[in-house]
Amino acid sequence: EPAIRSTLTFSTVKTGLFKRRVIQVARRFGSLKKWADFSNVSLQKLISSFEGTPIYEEGLKEVFTKDLDADGLVMVLGRLRRGDVRLQVVKTGGNPTPVARVGIERVSMKTDLIPPEKMRTVLVESAKARLLNETGNFVCTACWDYMEMIRIKDLPDRPKCPRCGSSAIGLLKVEEEKAVGLLEKKGEHLAKNEEKMCSYAKQTAALIERYGKAATVALSARRVSTADIAGVLEKEPSVSDHFYELVLEAERKSLSKRFK
Ligand SMILES: [Zn+2]
Repeated sequence: EPAIRSTLTFSTVKTGLFKRRVIQVARRFGSLKKWADFSNVSLQKLISSFEGTPIYEEGLKEVFTKDLDADGLVMVLGRLRRGDVRLQVVKTGGNPTPVARVGIERVSMKTDLIPPEKMRTVLVESAKARLLNETGNFVCTACWDYMEMIRIKDLPDRPKCPRCGSSAIGLLKVEEEKAVGLLEKKGEHLAKNEEKMCSYAKQTAALIERYGKAATVALSARRVSTADIAGVLEKEPSVSDHFYELVLEAERKSLSKRFK
């Protein structure tokens, strides 16, 4: 039975049905504003961006409970194995049997696709939702006396240190406990990994000081260097659709570099 379920999961994630469910879940989570239709290729990119998130898991769960009948399948296969039922092939000359047709029609009703022109909107909306929902570890690089985990969307336009008032707030992508040493030592006499963290905090602080919240949104992108983020912000310093497109492009570029 676990083998059946894992095979089912493996093939399910490739289906339009699953993709559609993920989009629906993402919409419900507030991650996508509009539901439109899109070509399968770009849709795949969008779905991959949700991989490893609760949205992805929830989409899978929904397909299993609403679209597929996994329990029924396990039962039928069990009965086949025990010999309770027998497999009989019906020759129809390539036409679906009346029962099969009902199934095919019901599935195709659920898998209507989205036109490519709406794809841009969908990609921007999903990037927006993803980045704004990221949580960053913010540290003050002026007094090293302030550290707080904050969701990007909850930040003010111009983040400031509540202790010293400085706007040299850096963004670390590590848990608070990993940055405790850096703060305790106030950025001095650091171990090698702390040194690295410190320089990253200062680089990001420079961007946040200059561009405010927009910098924190861009810095929440996946695996993009601060230099590339700086490039995005230089081209588009305000959080617009174009801004999100530039961030997505930077993510794509860094991803393709990694696989060269
Ligand atoms: Zn401070």
